[in-house]
Amino acid sequence: MFTYDVAVIGAGVSGASTAYQLGHYHVSAILLEKCADVGFGVSKANSGIIHGGFHHPVSSLKAKLEIRGNFMFDKLQYELDFPFRRNGILVVAFSEEEMATVRKLYEQGVANGVRNLEMCGRDRLLRLEPKLNAEVIGGFFAPSGGTIEPYRYVFSLVEAAVRNGVNLHCDFKVEQCENDGEAWLLTAADGRRVRARYVVNAAGLYADEISRLSGAEEFTIHARKGEEYLLDRNSKARPERVIFPVPTKHSKGVLVIPTAEGTTMIGPTADPADDKEDTSTSSDHMARIVALVRQMVDGISVRDVITSFAGLRPVLDSEDFYIAPSEKVPRFIQVAGIQSPGLTASPAIGEYVKDLLKESGLTLTEKKDYQYDLPRHREVRHESLEALDRLHAENPAWTHLVCRCEKISEAEIVEAVRKGHRTLDGVKFYTRAGMGRCQGGFCSARIMQIISRESGIPLEELTKKGGDSRLLAGRLGELPVQTEMEAGK
Ligand SMILES: Cc1cc2nc3c(=O)[nH]c(=O)nc-3n(C[C@H](O)[C@H](O)[C@H](O)COP(=O)(O)OP(=O)(O)OC[C@H]3O[C@@H](n4cnc5c(N)ncnc54)[C@H](O)[C@@H]3O)c2cc1C
Repeated sequence: MFTYDVAVIGAGVSGASTAYQLGHYHVSAILLEKCADVGFGVSKANSGIIHGGFHHPVSSLKAKLEIRGNFMFDKLQYELDFPFRRNGILVVAFSEEEMATVRKLYEQGVANGVRNLEMCGRDRLLRLEPKLNAEVIGGFFAPSGGTIEPYRYVFSLVEAAVRNGVNLHCDFKVEQCENDGEAWLLTAADGRRVRARYVVNAAGLYADEISRLSGAEEFTIHARKGEEYLLDRNSKARPERVIFPVPTKHSKGVLVIPTAEGTTMIGPTADPADDKEDTSTSSDHMARIVALVRQMVDGISVRDVITSFAGLRPVLDSEDFYIAPSEKVPRFIQVAGIQSPGLTASPAIGEYVKDLLKESGLTLTEKKDYQYDLPRHREVRHESLEALDRLHAENPAWTHLVCRCEKISEAEIVEAVRKGHRTLDGVKFYTRAGMGRCQGGFCSARIMQIISRESGIPLEELTKKGGDSRLLAGRLGELPVQTEMEAGK
């Protein structure tokens, strides 16, 4: 049986970023993910903010990695081409009491070494963000903060890793981790096995289970739920900057987020959850969130909400990240408790884990022939009319729109399927098809037909997100038989 140098368990931002780093070296590595696609854990359900490095004291590991991670995003975006904007963060106060907290946060940011933080009075804030409620009294501006499309970021990291030799197994739920003295034997729920000298435990909400299965440290990951509400892209309330209130004990507060892809999001809540799979949302919480954000931006209305989702933060009692070699078992790196700002910190998490692997004895020789040239991801919604004509001449599927809300063409969906995304959610997160106003009401049937045609998976076996989430159990007759393209329209 082949023995890999490293097996990374979990393909969220932490595992994907580790795999991306390992792709730069002459090592054999494999990324194991229990879901049908990568990034389907908490990494797909968050606020998508690249934080500014002022919320946590730099004595914590999460602040150190947040600051380094933030800094690493420009180079990463240049190489990997995912949606990311440094549109800046405003932290705002509406009373003298809040202003005292704002000053403390600003001073913490300065002490953390964050550059270019600027204290602002009311007038400057309103110039920086005209959508802000005019009753604001002061705050600060963090220009290095920004927004990112988190799923495209994970896909890009994994594509780069795979292009550079890292293997990927999805639908691989690690259920046993045994050490035979020389290597780890990881067995999946379906009996498949992978052998590796080093293991990286980046299993998010289930990192405690993987640690226990491996005979490593005992700890508990608590889930803290965050509900988010997405507004229509035409909402007049969309600000230019990310707007933060003063934080609470357990969260950064309820925010107004102009997403990297042109919509607006409000949230998240921060409530303990008993069930690690409970991603339900409630209308009571929506009403509470809308009321809170209207204190910061007047025009936000419940009528603009087009959908909601929830993510569960994986939280340790220490409230910090736990990234360290196990002290109980050999060649086992723990990457646990990666709550917010895990997305921001993720490039630095991958780098840190790579260094820990090296310190634990893994030989890392840099590749001279690292492949930087990822094929560009074409999106017709960003193309000029001339470019569209050229694309149409190449293949008419480029100008055949399937998702009209988000303007996604059939060719983009075909590309996603050919890259291995074979669930409705996988295609949605890869392309944005189904993420607009109608939430897939008009295009899901067409997308399913294209997935089936391109992958050879019968329609009745297609799933929303893998496992038992079959879409059409007994409802095949409800689908139109052909796509318009297939019908020659
Ligand atoms: C509501 C909300 C808002 C947030 N907003 C922000 C933000 O704006 N900015 C920011 O920086 N951070 C934010 N975060 C935090 C950020 O999303 C997380 O820190 C980050 O996504 C954690 O990534 P991860 O890779 O560690 O975990 P995950 O993404 O959960 O990845 C772990 C993976 O392991 C897999 N797995 C689990 N068990 C097994 C097994 N047995 N075998 C194989 N695979 C397994 C899972 O399926 C999963 O894909 C937010 C979080 C939430 C919940």
